[in-house]
Amino acid sequence: MITTDVAVVGGGIVGLSTAYQLLRRYPHVKVTILEKEKEICRHQTGRNSGVIHSGLYYRPGSIKADHCARGRETLIRFAVKHRIPHEICGKVLAATRVPELIHLDRIEQIGRANGLKGLKRIDNTQIREIEPHCHGIAGLFVPQTGIIDYEVVGRTLRREIENLGKKAGSDVLCGWEVRDLRREADGVILETGREPVRARFLIACAGLQSDRLAEKDGLAPDLRIVPFRGDYYELVPESEYRVRNLIYPVPDPDLPFLGVHFTRMIGGGVEAGPSAVFSFMREGYGRLDFSLRDTLESLAFRGTWRLFIRHWRYGLGEYSRAFSKKLFLKALKRLIPDLNACEIKPSRSGIRAQALNRRGELLDDFRIESTDHSIHVLNAPSPAATASLAIGDTIVDTASRRFDFSRRSMIKQGGF
Ligand SMILES: Cc1cc2nc3c(=O)[nH]c(=O)nc-3n(C[C@H](O)[C@H](O)[C@H](O)COP(=O)(O)OP(=O)(O)OC[C@H]3O[C@@H](n4cnc5c(N)ncnc54)[C@H](O)[C@@H]3O)c2cc1C
Repeated sequence: MITTDVAVVGGGIVGLSTAYQLLRRYPHVKVTILEKEKEICRHQTGRNSGVIHSGLYYRPGSIKADHCARGRETLIRFAVKHRIPHEICGKVLAATRVPELIHLDRIEQIGRANGLKGLKRIDNTQIREIEPHCHGIAGLFVPQTGIIDYEVVGRTLRREIENLGKKAGSDVLCGWEVRDLRREADGVILETGREPVRARFLIACAGLQSDRLAEKDGLAPDLRIVPFRGDYYELVPESEYRVRNLIYPVPDPDLPFLGVHFTRMIGGGVEAGPSAVFSFMREGYGRLDFSLRDTLESLAFRGTWRLFIRHWRYGLGEYSRAFSKKLFLKALKRLIPDLNACEIKPSRSGIRAQALNRRGELLDDFRIESTDHSIHVLNAPSPAATASLAIGDTIVDTASRRFDFSRRSMIKQGGF
């Protein structure tokens, strides 16, 4: 039996950031991160677009808006301190049709309400000055947006956790899946595929599995994680000149997805995507991957059907694009009209953990719930990578209200 003060389930960027923030405040606390994969950051964190989001879209006053702004600043400071390659290159948001202008106005207002300095309305000539191959009738330039590799951030966080927590025996254990958990008088016992782990406090940051862990812990969250696969294409090297930095469309205001966009990657190359298709497997990255358990669970949830009914037209469009390069290209051509099929090739895919409620609404804001012995991150979709260090800070605040992490208290309570 392994004993620890705090068990963090999930070695994605949210779990790692939380453990890091906890150890910065309380280095004497033993923190054990349990990650089921052989390495950290194998799911959402290692398969995202690598964008440092500005906070342009999020409802002012929402947890997302606040944490994106704070998280972005903290992330950049962290990247500078640890020499993680990143660039604050700015992005262009381009409206390509007249009906989108009303949404562009709304996004501009939100951006200003969220305090984005230097946010600039631009016309088609100015769009072309910034992104010469992009067509738009009007747009926004957002100077705060940047690019980074979140896997590199994750690896750096892991190193820092191991350094900060060395004395107390904190560790990141990969290949440790939490399969079950039960409450004890003084904490929780986590059943893993290996030894059980006994922890005084549990913080679950399990991404695509977060609802399942919460249910095992006795929470009855009125939501289900619905996986949405996002496929990417990439520009062939000879066509990378077509995108200087980041080009985004005006997103559908009813959906939390940003639409297929062009992203210059910090490690080189330009990606186009991701799409957003309902996935039949939570962690299946192939177009035809299927899990009976995942599919039945999704379909047994009333909200899934309501979502399908409400957004069937959008869903059908995304499905067609997932299987047709021609249709994917058509979506991209709205932003770069003279892009040709031979200039893009299929690339990787990622799966978003998106919480859905019974009414069929995709939960827009982050959702974190707690009990007296645990905290569960239930919805941390984009921009949670950007916001992760701020999310971690908030979780530590909440945990500190529920549990006395002070050195005196930990000594008084003694070992298990
Ligand atoms: C396609 C795509 C593009 C995106 N683009 C961006 C972007 O550009 N910028 C941005 O800010 N955000 C972006 N996001 C969102 C961002 O990547 C996620 O919000 C963030 O990575 C969530 O981190 P996480 O730690 O919660 O989840 P994850 O990275 O999925 O980590 C969860 C971890 O928990 C582990 N786990 C689950 N269950 C168990 C268990 N029972 N036992 C042990 N371990 C377990 C998993 O193996 C996994 O490693 C994107 C997401 C996707 C999918």
